[in-house]
Amino acid sequence: MNSTAVMPHAVFGPVTVHFGDQTGKYPDGNQVVVRGRDTTAVFDTPQVANRLGDVLAGADLAILGHVHEDHMAGLHLMPGKPVWAHEADVDAARSWQGLSRHYGYAQPVLDGLREKFERDFHYVPRPDATAYADGNVWELGGVRVRAVHMPGHTAGHCVLLVEPAGIAFIGDIDLSGFGPYYGDATSSLADFRRTLARLPLLPAAVWVTSHHKGVFTDRGAFLAALQSFTVRLDEREASLLQMLADGALGLDELVRRRLLYRPDVQAAWVDSAERRTITQHLDELMADGRVVRDGLARYSLAA
Ligand SMILES: [Zn+2]
Repeated sequence: MNSTAVMPHAVFGPVTVHFGDQTGKYPDGNQVVVRGRDTTAVFDTPQVANRLGDVLAGADLAILGHVHEDHMAGLHLMPGKPVWAHEADVDAARSWQGLSRHYGYAQPVLDGLREKFERDFHYVPRPDATAYADGNVWELGGVRVRAVHMPGHTAGHCVLLVEPAGIAFIGDIDLSGFGPYYGDATSSLADFRRTLARLPLLPAAVWVTSHHKGVFTDRGAFLAALQSFTVRLDEREASLLQMLADGALGLDELVRRRLLYRPDVQAAWVDSAERRTITQHLDELMADGRVVRDGLARYSLAA
């Protein structure tokens, strides 16, 4: 049975966006397919890829904008076909050990995650994955894909720009209400800030996110969403300063209070992601002289 035709999708010239469950809300995502005269490429392979069997079967290669479990969920449908990942993310695609270093979570958390990823995301490592660098170009026949390195979410996160149409797959710069995620070992708040400042400079007319927001065809709406997304960084900083306003706190206590997730979110990686996120904000605030750390490794507002 061919169920592809009735699934929600949008077409922009050579690009088709197949929307995942709840417009690609995690754990699903949006599947981008780019059809050139000679070659068909898919950008990432979210869970929805598993409901697009004939589309994936017709694809010649997968280009990963970044490596995370929810972007690899259809790679098992493309055995032997080329899989590309940025050089800073490619080890995470090649092996479980690489993916574990990428996340940097505590070992018991990682052990539980592998089983979950295999069950929910059809996780398979791709030791055959090929590394690409910033600026790499794939010629698909009348259509070109260009990688623009935009790190922060992961070290190798890239925007994949379809030329000459100017369609930008911006991946997990997802413009969601949650805000930027930089809670893994290879994530970087400082890089994410630079990436958010550079994103409007891309020569694009359509912006496609991996999750949630989906597609922007209006530059004003895109810029407004980007602004709201970026403001989340200031809001988190303000929340952290508020926590410290009552007195000195250690990192464990700050993690327990949470900066990123609501108290009811129980995912196994939450504490690890909170720790990494809070640490990066504290480092920034200490570098700015707004927060100090005492001899007991407690943080407080600078006098
Ligand atoms: Zn991601």
